[in-house]
Amino acid sequence: MVDLKAANERLEELLDCVDHPKAVREGQRLFCGLDLGTAFIVLVVLDEDGNPIDCKYEFASVVKDGMVVDYVGACDIARRLKEQVEAELGVELESCAVAIPPETESLDGGVVKNVCESTGLECVAVFDEPTAANLLIGTRDGAVVDIGGGTTGISVFEDGRVVECVDESTGGTHFSLVLAGAKRMSFDEAEVYKRDPAHHAEVLPIVAPTIDKVTSIIARACEPHDVGEVILVGGTAELTGIEGRVRKGLGVEVHKPNHPMFVTPMGIALGCVEAAKGQANA
Ligand code: ATP
Repeated sequence: MVDLKAANERLEELLDCVDHPKAVREGQRLFCGLDLGTAFIVLVVLDEDGNPIDCKYEFASVVKDGMVVDYVGACDIARRLKEQVEAELGVELESCAVAIPPETESLDGGVVKNVCESTGLECVAVFDEPTAANLLIGTRDGAVVDIGGGTTGISVFEDGRVVECVDESTGGTHFSLVLAGAKRMSFDEAEVYKRDPAHHAEVLPIVAPTIDKVTSIIARACEPHDVGEVILVGGTAELTGIEGRVRKGLGVEVHKPNHPMFVTPMGIALGCVEAAKGQANA
């Protein structure tokens, strides 16, 4: 069974860095992960041992269904986050990794890389999102499910290798649309209402059919494999109690780290550390 203790400790440390970035030694190498999402753009900065140094994020509408639809807007936000971190840390950032939803490499891999490089960062690796998430989670046998804003991405691991990687269009945006309809709110109001943990007990039954849709997507991806456990990550996994409904629907163990929204961004940055070390050894 996957042990989330180390991942949870790193996530707590990362969240602490949002308001309290760590001091950087002169000459210290830093490694970045840039996550361009449907709802948020996140920049994570780690040291060479994968310890969190800084993290900044902005709510954004530059990606839809996993595709960049506002290239200039994406570049502007990415540059703003990089400049914010550089001003706080007093250093220039250099190496960065990015991620895209599974199966979108030919469509969007180059675009996400270009957004990253437009900021002056060198893009050292492009990962698929659930595989990046697993660099932090570390499951050898199980499915990592990234329930984001626009899509749900699933990577199935057997013996530490990815044997299935899919992405389908259902995520937190659909939860917000259902909530907006049920409570006669605008989409933007529903989005904010849904994210408040104080509203989660009320929101959960309203969005239950959409959770079931996500569960059926997970079940279909896992069906050809003997998946013993599922790990939920991504912002939509922040919804209190979602793991219980998914567990009931799937009939297998379902785990959720603390702060699931930051798992993929942190995993991407860990991928940057690995890729840069690989380049140095080549
Ligand atoms: P994608 O991976 O689909 O491109 P993304 O990377 O923006 O999108 P995430 O940042 O993982 O996705 O998740 C964003 C979604 O998570 C949004 O729909 C947002 O409303 C939802 N979300 C964030 N925080 C919470 C919360 N506390 N409670 C419920 N939902 C939340």
